[in-house]
Amino acid sequence: MRDTNFFAENNAKPIWHPMAHPAEMRASPPKVIMKGEGVHVTDIEGRTVLDAVGGLWNVNLGYNCDPIKQAIAAQLDALPYYSGFRGTSTGPSIELAYELSQWFAPEGMVRTFFTSGGSDSVETALRLARQHWKIRGQGDRTKFLALKKGYHGTHFGGASVNGNANFRRNYEPLLPGCFHTPAPWAYRNPYDETDPVRLAKLCARAIEDEIAFQGADTIAAFIMEPVLGAGGVIVPPETFMPLVREICDRHDILLIADEVVTAFGRTGAWSGSRLWNVKPDFMTIAKAITCGYFPLGATLIGQKVADVFEADKTSFGAIGHGYTYSGHPVGCAAGLAALAETKRLGVNENAAARGVELSKALEALKTKHALVGDVRGTGLMAALELVSDRASKKPVDKKTMAKVADGAYEAGVMLRVSGNMIILSPPLVITAADVAKIAEGLDAGL
Ligand code: PLP
Repeated sequence: MRDTNFFAENNAKPIWHPMAHPAEMRASPPKVIMKGEGVHVTDIEGRTVLDAVGGLWNVNLGYNCDPIKQAIAAQLDALPYYSGFRGTSTGPSIELAYELSQWFAPEGMVRTFFTSGGSDSVETALRLARQHWKIRGQGDRTKFLALKKGYHGTHFGGASVNGNANFRRNYEPLLPGCFHTPAPWAYRNPYDETDPVRLAKLCARAIEDEIAFQGADTIAAFIMEPVLGAGGVIVPPETFMPLVREICDRHDILLIADEVVTAFGRTGAWSGSRLWNVKPDFMTIAKAITCGYFPLGATLIGQKVADVFEADKTSFGAIGHGYTYSGHPVGCAAGLAALAETKRLGVNENAAARGVELSKALEALKTKHALVGDVRGTGLMAALELVSDRASKKPVDKKTMAKVADGAYEAGVMLRVSGNMIILSPPLVITAADVAKIAEGLDAGL
């Protein structure tokens, strides 16, 4: 491996970073992370900080989970790769698909289609949803509905249902036939409604209006995150997702739960759908399926959709979709180890308990710092929204956000900045002392 000078000199030069301006990255190179241990990471200068970002919502078990490392090494030794396309399966892919159907039995998921990550999983769900309607002889059902502020990855389909202009504008025109309705976001919504139950009803009514306008028989699916993550940790009122399910049922529209962030304990429940007691038709998962140790994702399929494909007698039933790395044996071995460890440690319970402590600490910071306009979250996903004036809710500028993050880093805590929001998604194995440390870092930054 090259020495540290090489990394420092070439940082942000031959590499373009996702979600960043290449020129800005050159002018202000990002931190170079060299090591991870427990819930901490160490940068090239030898500074060790608590990772309140958890990699990117995914390193739920921290950085030295030996069972995952060993499973990866053993599988590399036995069979580093074989195709999962028709004609061949591998042992780990069969076993992981079986485990996922057990794990997500309460959500009604019965089949798994493996992918290489979250964007792939969303793309797969959108495509299979359309195919499902072709099999059923309703090929006009091609449109998708989604929530404003929702994040569904960066492939063309995913970007088309994405509800944030930052991820859409530079790539338009996107897929036609994708429409968005307001998110049930109490802090900012077009109705100026702060009561959660009334807000859920208003947002549900907007979905009904859009369905009436488009014509239900033209809509393939509604896609939503049970808790909106990248859009700013928007936690819908508990009545909202059940209302969406009821509307979808009434209009025979499929419901895709994008659980790339929320599956495997992040919210304190094993999935966001389970948190709201909803059974979707598809679930998209990735990230914590391997805790970040290997790129892997999956689209899970509910019984109703599985029945349509498996009983198909038309020319539409064969799946003309897949990835070279669908069912990658090393990824699946990593997934099996990660899930076994996730279950053994019961990290959802820790996420719920630490989440309550984190939420209290964030409320205290809001009381102390006028800069904090709103704090919100559930389990171990949280956001602070920084405003220059609480009455007008005017977002603070980029410089201020960078200063807050730099201050926290100096104090030993890695934060993630997105627009005027600080997003927290620490590993689910953090302790009460780690929560206190995150709050201290934030306090120093603020
Ligand atoms: N869906 C959701 C809800 C996500 O949060 C993300 C990524 O953060 C994606 C999809 C895309 O996943 P990936 O970045 O693995 O492609």
